Amino acid sequence: MKSFSWVFWSVAVFFTITVISLSQNSFQEEIYVIKKVPTSQKVVALTIDDGPHEQATPELLATLREKQVKVTLFILGKNAEKNPGILAQAAADGHELANHAYSHRFLNKISQAERLEEIEKTEKLIMAVAPKPTLLRPPGGGYNDGIVAEARKLGYSTILWSLDTRDWQGISADQLVNNVMANVKPGSIILMHDGQYPIATTKGIGLVIDRLRAEGYSIVTVSQLLKYYEPKL
Ligand SMILES: [Zn+2]
Repeated sequence: MKSFSWVFWSVAVFFTITVISLSQNSFQEEIYVIKKVPTSQKVVALTIDDGPHEQATPELLATLREKQVKVTLFILGKNAEKNPGILAQAAADGHELANHAYSHRFLNKISQAERLEEIEKTEKLIMAVAPKPTLLRPPGGGYNDGIVAEARKLGYSTILWSLDTRDWQGISADQLVNNVMANVKPGSIILMHDGQYPIATTKGIGLVIDRLRAEGYSIVTVSQLLKYYEPKL
């Protein structure tokens, strides 16, 4: 009877500790692939992939400075290597620099060693001007459970998106605004690009910001958005 009660209490204490520690985990610690953040707050993240580009990115940064908005830039290593000054400017402006690998090869189509090289090369370039990135967006959204686990070991959450603006398909600035406003929800992670030129995003992002604000939305970085997570939603 005595040993039974010892076992009982050990199990009870173990479960209590587990439940408490699980409930204290943040969204990022519980969920490693994030497409949007469940929240009732009108808050969204603008994410911009594939730069820095010598024309698109400076135009984009100028608008963001004027509107006083911070975004998350998913940096493509090979473009960061070509445009280190623009990368440094993005960091100096206070934007969040995140990892989009080096060459835009799909991570699910290459070997583990190649993936590691892709991620670490871009990480080094970012760390020349900013803190170690903690967010990874696999090029083309190509990922699997193994890649998510590998990223996790390197200190990354895998970030996808819930709203594709389709700016990469040659749309106009007006279409960009419409695509965002027709689909935006609290907690949306909005996908845009600055790796090519011309592109609707450089012309339309100011209008997107104005319209989102007019609808009562705040715009934050992805890392900030994760803090709005409400577990019951
Ligand atoms: Zn990309």
